[in-house]
Amino acid sequence: MKTIFQKIIDREIPAKLAYEDEHCIAIHDINPQAPVHVLVIPKQHITRIAEAKADDQNTLGHLLLSAAAVAKKLGLEQSGFRVVINNGRDGGETVPHLHVHLLGGRPLAWPPG
Ligand code: AMP
Repeated sequence: MKTIFQKIIDREIPAKLAYEDEHCIAIHDINPQAPVHVLVIPKQHITRIAEAKADDQNTLGHLLLSAAAVAKKLGLEQSGFRVVINNGRDGGETVPHLHVHLLGGRPLAWPPG
């Protein structure tokens, strides 16, 4: 069964697009936790970071470079931002399709909750 992110990638359900290229899509989170909260999602399905394989190296590198590019595009380069991947139950993962959260636009507490 397709995940909600696969349906967004396949244009079966709408999303607010922040960026797209051949390998990934970036959308604004439907339940933002910061003034900027974007999800960068590889088009190639990887369930979660713990299941990524050596062959996924290019996809993973592209994902992080894209997150940084979107941060710049959205004006976060000077103020700073955070990139987060939630993995599994304790990590807070809710959608089993790898995605990077890009958060910014306010100071972010550390350690996270
Ligand atoms: P995670 O909990 O790390 O798996 O992150 C899943 C994220 O997807 C959450 O921050 C949700 O708010 C977000 N989300 C779920 N459905 C949608 C949707 N249709 N459009 C945009 N973001 C979504």
